[in-house]
Amino acid sequence: MTKKENAVTSKPYPLLRINTSSSWCDVHGSHRPKPLVSEVHHIWPRGMGGPDGPSNRVRVCPTGHVNIHRAIRDLLAGQRPRGGRNEVKLARQGVAAWVAAGRPGRPE
Ligand SMILES: [Zn+2]
Ligand SMILES: [Zn+2]
Repeated sequence: MTKKENAVTSKPYPLLRINTSSSWCDVHGSHRPKPLVSEVHHIWPRGMGGPDGPSNRVRVCPTGHVNIHRAIRDLLAGQRPRGGRNEVKLARQGVAAWVAAGRPGRPE
């Protein structure tokens, strides 16, 4: 997780939005209770050179978001990624895109 995504009170904060319309999370599916906020995660992270387009975005709850980035850090460290199935899947997709692009930007 980047500082920008993590700092709830920082302004501007375009990646955080109140979740008023859906209980859906792209990590966990339908939540009960629904998450109060949803965050945009870039599958190929922005800090690693990923694009900002809609095809690179998923909407996740804060817990899922933290876990995805932990799994990415594990993969970059050559360790077995921690996290749930979808968290690890999204982390692997992000790292794979970054590797395929020649490892641009700053790894987490
Ligand atoms: Zn993210
Ligand atoms: Zn979730």
